[in-house]
Amino acid sequence: MTGKLKAPKGTHDLFPSDSEKFAAVEATARRVFGAHGYGEIRTPTFESTELFARSVGETTDIVHKEMYTFPDRKGRSLTLRPENTAGVVRALVEKGIQDIPKPIRLWYAGSQFRYEQPQAGRYREFRQIGVELLGVASAAGDAEVLAMLFAFLGALGLTDVAATINCIPRGDARAAFSKALQEHVRPHADRLGADDRKRLDENPLRLFDSKDPETRRFLEGAPATLEFLDAASRAHHEELKNLLGKLGVRFTESAGIVRGIDYYTLTVFEVTSDRLGAQNAILGGGRYDDLVAELGGPPTPAVGFAIGEDRLVDAMTADVREPRTLFAVIPDGPEDFPYALGVAQEIRALLPEVIVESDLLGRGVGKGLSRAGQLAREPGRHAHRIARVQAVLLGSQEREKESVTLKDLTTGAQDTFPRRQLAERLAGRER
Ligand code: AMP
Repeated sequence: MTGKLKAPKGTHDLFPSDSEKFAAVEATARRVFGAHGYGEIRTPTFESTELFARSVGETTDIVHKEMYTFPDRKGRSLTLRPENTAGVVRALVEKGIQDIPKPIRLWYAGSQFRYEQPQAGRYREFRQIGVELLGVASAAGDAEVLAMLFAFLGALGLTDVAATINCIPRGDARAAFSKALQEHVRPHADRLGADDRKRLDENPLRLFDSKDPETRRFLEGAPATLEFLDAASRAHHEELKNLLGKLGVRFTESAGIVRGIDYYTLTVFEVTSDRLGAQNAILGGGRYDDLVAELGGPPTPAVGFAIGEDRLVDAMTADVREPRTLFAVIPDGPEDFPYALGVAQEIRALLPEVIVESDLLGRGVGKGLSRAGQLAREPGRHAHRIARVQAVLLGSQEREKESVTLKDLTTGAQDTFPRRQLAERLAGRER
């Protein structure tokens, strides 16, 4: 039996018209983060299951019900990474983080996997671009990361977004906050679903992750994180707000953000976009001062964020691809292919920035020209961002006389000249 093969539920293919946008976003990340001293790290797509249980947290939705976990052939439990911070920290601890000069500045881009109910903007395989700054305890670290984030979003044309920030109490203050939250929700315990009852008992902060409308109602008027901050945490938060103001980072404060991952301490933040539907969170991040020690390294403060790249691309209206000139090399028939391939090669060598495409279907100059003309009128049909189209017509006349006919499809101007003049005729046609 042969059924129709389909991509697994919740995954999607990126064809060039999309993948070139993703590549341009990643190139912008490399440029902006690189300018701040951040280098790219690439960690494995799968890790030991234990890593995520110990970092993201057993009682989070991610670990509890969204992981792709499987035994390998030797029976080791492995998991497709649901996020990348745990892998980065594991890699640093394994390499010997104590010997790496601080601050450590890293960024990554790659696929993450979560078994969620797919919908617009929510996938089972999705891409994140993230940043990690390790070794800086002061609010200056949070501020650097947030300011860099907004420099990146600005470079992508997303200038109308703001961060929502919060500060989660740590240590004894966190325990007191959890207890107060428990007391607030406890009277409604018998009306909670099984998952939320477990959260109430084991990790009340996680109640904020609940999608159950009843639970959300019970959380109204719940104790606010900011009221539980100890003096040092409060000072950290105040300093961060002060720095963000000075750096021109737009933000609002909200006590309702706790983020769906256990390792966060103090600062947490999110950015949402009105241009997205129900799944409107473009990114999330925060400080995770206890995670390195949790995973076996020396206590090392850290802060970072993860952007949902698929949602980011959806929210963008600007085209960040480099505009390029397309040379459509059009041989009249198969007998002109050798000449055409040679001319195409020569143009690429002369103008490395342009795109040179040979029409190798041998369907005649007329058809080739009309296809090139269509691209000139509707450059959006091409995977790349086409600034203008030049047709290079090569029929038997050109081949026999060793000449080239160049037609600018934007202006309509056409000219035939000897091939040996290509360099001087093409000079200045880069854009
Ligand atoms: P998190 O790692 O949960 O803090 O998520 C960070 C960002 O990743 C979110 O703000 C989303 O933009 C993106 N994200 C998380 N889960 C998904 C998903 N299932 N599909 C697409 N994007 C996602």
